[in-house]
Amino acid sequence: MAFVTRFAPSPTGPLHLGHAYSAMLAHDMAQAGGGTFVLRIEDIDRSRCRPEWENQLIDDLNWLGIFWDTEPLRQSDRVGMYSQSLDKLWADGLIYPCNCSRRDIEAALSAPQEGTELPAGPDGLIYPGVCRNKNHQRTVSERTSRPADANLRLNVSRVTVDESFERRFDISTGGWQWFASYRETGIGPLGNSGLIEFSPEDIETQVGDFVIARRDMGTSYHLSVVLDDAAQRITHVVRGADLTEATKIHVLLQRLLGLPTPIYHHHRLIRDENGKRLAKRDDARALSKYRAEGATPADIRRMVGL
Ligand code: GLU
Repeated sequence: MAFVTRFAPSPTGPLHLGHAYSAMLAHDMAQAGGGTFVLRIEDIDRSRCRPEWENQLIDDLNWLGIFWDTEPLRQSDRVGMYSQSLDKLWADGLIYPCNCSRRDIEAALSAPQEGTELPAGPDGLIYPGVCRNKNHQRTVSERTSRPADANLRLNVSRVTVDESFERRFDISTGGWQWFASYRETGIGPLGNSGLIEFSPEDIETQVGDFVIARRDMGTSYHLSVVLDDAAQRITHVVRGADLTEATKIHVLLQRLLGLPTPIYHHHRLIRDENGKRLAKRDDARALSKYRAEGATPADIRRMVGL
């Protein structure tokens, strides 16, 4: 089987040991399998991305011995592609505008007893559907043009009656069961690898109507990542276990947009001495700092346990 993997950093800060681990692991896996390694610059959040971070990350990766087989894909060049997919979802009545703020959502969700936690999933608070219901009342002709000045949410309750899920007969309940699945070779939702399945109810209760396009970006991480993985013909996604829970969203979007689902390999996260996962602002673990102190790529490999 072909093996094409990628590293997809956002140039919003310096690469740290966690990025180095992710990139080296993906690169090692591609080399071991006689496969291909590609780079993608995830720069949809123009307000936070800087060209100097992009130059620095390319320099750091090359220093680690990581090179790519094709020209990197830059998300900021792909806004037209994202827009086309949104047009299709809009025409199918699967997305709706929503300008609820976080505070609006908290108020709509607010639990009767104080101290009760609000329901949250991989994309933040589970949206209670305030604007979905408003949109349902519109007629089809009122929905002909997609607004550019609103966030757009996916109506997951509509998706579940679409063709995104497969169906099998469950002998124990004597009824049909709907499910979608993907293959995980690393850390799945329960720490497990193998075939990971989820149901329409899992999407409704654990994810909800997530934002598929932010009004300031014209897309979202989720939409861009599935379209770009397909465009780069990625067969194996190697990335941190912090994205394990988001994978259901990605598989759902792949089904909806008729895209292939790659195999996923979610890897362990590199943590600091207090067990906290490294963050971009954690300059103390920036690769550039280790480089300035005279570390070699072999030292970095040892530090991250490769
Ligand atoms: N751009 C994301 C990040 O820097 C990675 C997304 C992915 O690998 O799917 O965390």
